[in-house]
Amino acid sequence: MIPLAQAQDRVLTGCSVLPVVTVSIAEARGLLTAETVTAPEPVPSFDNTAMDGFAVRSQDVVGAPITLTVVGTVSAGATPSVVVGANQAARVMTGAVIPPGADAVVMVELTQASGDSDEVKVAQAVPKGNHIRRAGEDIVAGQVVFGSGEVLTPGHLGVLASLGVYEVQARPRPRVGVLSTGDELVDGCQPLKAGQIRDSNRHTLLALLDEAGCEPVDLGCVPDDESQIADAIRIGAECCHGVLTSGGVSMGDYDYVKKVLNEMGDMSWMQVAIKPAKPLAFGLVDGVPVFGLPGNPVSSMVSFELFVLPALRKMMGHPPESWHRQVTLGRTAEKLSRHPDGKTHFARVKVRYVDGEYLVSSAGGQGSHQMSAMANANALAVLPDGEGLEADEAVSLLILR
Ligand code: AMP
Ligand code: MG
Repeated sequence: MIPLAQAQDRVLTGCSVLPVVTVSIAEARGLLTAETVTAPEPVPSFDNTAMDGFAVRSQDVVGAPITLTVVGTVSAGATPSVVVGANQAARVMTGAVIPPGADAVVMVELTQASGDSDEVKVAQAVPKGNHIRRAGEDIVAGQVVFGSGEVLTPGHLGVLASLGVYEVQARPRPRVGVLSTGDELVDGCQPLKAGQIRDSNRHTLLALLDEAGCEPVDLGCVPDDESQIADAIRIGAECCHGVLTSGGVSMGDYDYVKKVLNEMGDMSWMQVAIKPAKPLAFGLVDGVPVFGLPGNPVSSMVSFELFVLPALRKMMGHPPESWHRQVTLGRTAEKLSRHPDGKTHFARVKVRYVDGEYLVSSAGGQGSHQMSAMANANALAVLPDGEGLEADEAVSLLILR
């Protein structure tokens, strides 16, 4: 067995950051920029009003209350056709251009306009610039808005759109194929025959990829048959940035994934000192990273968390310090037992945040086939080799959600 960190290192060394592409902002959420983005224009691009109200000359309202003559209206999107002169005002709507002559806005709540006359009574004096959003107040033309390597959040995409920048140089969204293997697997809701089980891993892994900001590609479910496994992996390596298989990497006589991958790629076969998810295959097939994940459903999920996710984050351009999930400290609310076996255990646990700390209890049966506990868990508790933890002890956590 090899330590977890060594196995993670081997995987991460084999994966490279993906080459830069041009991405439309409609497709860019969660991707990392690969260029410095400079503002081609200011935001806002003109002085405008932050309030519905009246544009005035501040010097005219010093002695308020005072009555001014309304010379016109400027709505948002309109080019002003009026000039505000001495003792005059223009009605303005939020976002409208400040008409020439005016240097302040009085909000509508501080005014009284009669419907049938062209007069407005201003109740209070306002300083010069009142409620005016200046051109370039958010972003100045030529300003660097984002550096290279920034995650494009919805807010970032809003900034780009506000600048009229609809495409950006970024690291691509990894396309990752998922293949299930096993003679016992059934895909669909037909009644199970003796010995059959339903393929769950593919659905779980496709969803995990989606959650990780990747583009999942369904490579289907194939029996323990060398040529069918080889064909599916070849298709995956041709059209994807990475391929995940599950099943067939253990010590069984029908573990053909092992045989096929050995013929197709430059593979490392690892027995990692962890439970679940001890067996792992990793290698490159035509330069594409291929992960042979274990077949047990909980193992394949934990293997994804510990090996695939960090690799994908590296490929997406994240910096090394954010490849791995951060370890959080919690406290056991109950005993979390295990037996010494030379491995680090990743227990499926339920974490509650109570009075400023994470309280940790078991999420259910800890067998690597018991997916219901995995579904119920919102964290993995790291149990070092030994007899486990008593109640009220400190515990390291990988918070999943
Ligand atoms: P294997 O690694 O092929 O020996 O599989 C280990 C265990 O995981 C066996 O009990 C398999 O039936 C189960 N298994 C393998 N693939 C899947 C899958 N796609 N969905 C659910 N269980 C699976
Ligand atoms: Mg199998």
